[in-house]
Amino acid sequence: MSPAPSREELALDVLFVGGGPACLAALWRLLDLVEAHNRRPGVRKLEGLCFGLIEKAEGFGDHAFSGAILDPSSLRELCPDFLARGFPSEGVVQAEEVWVLSSDHGGVKLPVLPTFLGNRGAHVVSLSRMVRWMAELIGAREVPGVEVLLLPGFAGQEVLWEGGRVAGVRTADRGLDGEGRPRVDHQPGTDLKARVTVFGEGPRGHLARELEAVLGLQAQSPHPQVFEMGVKEVWELPEGRLLPGSVLHCTGWPQEEGESGGGFLYGLSGNRAALGFVVSLDTRDPFADAHECLQRLKGHPRFAEVLEGGRPVEYGAKALAIGGWHAMPRLAFEGGMLLGDAAQMVDAARLKGIHLGLKAGLCAAECLLDALLEDAFDELSLQRYAEAFRMSWAGQELRASRGVHGILSRGPEPMAALKLGLSRVTGGWVPGGGRAPQSDADRTSTTEAYYGKPGIHRCDLGPGVHPDGRWILGKLDALFLSGTRHDERQPCHLHLVGDPGICAQCHATMGAPCTVFCPAQVYEMRSPSGGEGPRLEIAFANCLHCKTCDIKCPGRNVIWTPPQGGGGPRYTLC
Ligand code: SF4
Repeated sequence: MSPAPSREELALDVLFVGGGPACLAALWRLLDLVEAHNRRPGVRKLEGLCFGLIEKAEGFGDHAFSGAILDPSSLRELCPDFLARGFPSEGVVQAEEVWVLSSDHGGVKLPVLPTFLGNRGAHVVSLSRMVRWMAELIGAREVPGVEVLLLPGFAGQEVLWEGGRVAGVRTADRGLDGEGRPRVDHQPGTDLKARVTVFGEGPRGHLARELEAVLGLQAQSPHPQVFEMGVKEVWELPEGRLLPGSVLHCTGWPQEEGESGGGFLYGLSGNRAALGFVVSLDTRDPFADAHECLQRLKGHPRFAEVLEGGRPVEYGAKALAIGGWHAMPRLAFEGGMLLGDAAQMVDAARLKGIHLGLKAGLCAAECLLDALLEDAFDELSLQRYAEAFRMSWAGQELRASRGVHGILSRGPEPMAALKLGLSRVTGGWVPGGGRAPQSDADRTSTTEAYYGKPGIHRCDLGPGVHPDGRWILGKLDALFLSGTRHDERQPCHLHLVGDPGICAQCHATMGAPCTVFCPAQVYEMRSPSGGEGPRLEIAFANCLHCKTCDIKCPGRNVIWTPPQGGGGPRYTLC
């Protein structure tokens, strides 16, 4: 029998965890700064450095997912000639509409757009394409004195600790069987040891959870981290149907009254459109289902007239951080930093976060250069990043919108517009605007409390949408368009951490919300033969990595962990 392969160790100066815009911007700017520093005469040169970046997807951009409308201010700061360098803009925003829908055919278009919702001059983007563009430009760089290792297909499994400080990340093993035993192709994960580790895993990061458990980064935050969940389809449309850069937002129907969320339709280049729906995960509705809302939205005349004659070509889903200023954790600690969606850096008023994640990356890079020059990676030194971000225009933008999620999470109520206007005038203050400090999981109601019907399940409310083989998609049909693939011979990456009785109890009182909100139909309650009670079955290979189950499970019974070997969706246009 051949000996088990040993675990490798790699020493880095800076390790970035997550190939999203925040970490890529930090790495890009750090390369700029080191290059500029080393050109200065008479300074001690920075040489022999090694920067690494790991990304769980097999290719950069494969798991990147957002609406998205990009405020280009921080991208311009990072790369003033971004358009000349091939930035994949889908169109500059020119025409915008906001609708409040009242039924499957009714609604009003707002006559005037609130200024904070305006997007003129911003770029409609595919985050997947944008991330790929950033990674390609970084990969093509040659900076004397620095080696750059871009490592897609490597997920961080656990944080490495040395005497209470972060010392790097261990990547996930490959080649484990369904029971977690080594197969013949088993490869232990690598210990990536770094002088400083920058965490930008996106919303509900697996490693960020470990950081929180050990360091209590959220302890001083007035609010818990809160999220929304978005689903999106990319459509091919008849030529000339929708101008690239045209923007349509809506709220109200098809959600239940008082629920928060809304739909969007953006014109993309190449006669394509992004059609999506976002549901606030602080909903009390145990049967909230963003996928179903999206399917129903397609039948509304304002959307149907655009989509007629087209076809969906890609599908995806993801949780989105929405907490902003009040929910931001401590951003720096011994040996590490946290940035982007992983740190709740999203402006709830403008419904934007990519530009804030990019700005956080720029602030982090300035701090990292100083840290490398001073060989100082303690919390006090890295706090300069946190201070710089909070004092920057990005931090002030987040501060000014700190009450907005609390207002919008109550749905389109009559006073909402007034409160929103007031918060803009007062720089963020609103009477009663701060939301109750309750997690999204804790907000979920029983079916009795929400629908007045104890013990019901989704099917008791009547049939959902019927897939029509044309443009109404069932979840499994939609999943096919996401390109999702996992090696099914590996352990399930969705862990039930408590007693199976928790799921049975949830099924009885709340109708098992995970079987409804999951956009990929991963969860199903099944009653095995033999008279036993229903059990939760998990089709993990379908998982889109949206993290909603980890956030919204009312019993906090699901923990999402990264699967091995780059599995997951393969987004190209999302
Ligand atoms: Fe999202 Fe969880 Fe469903 Fe995966 S299993 S698609 S993370 S809700």
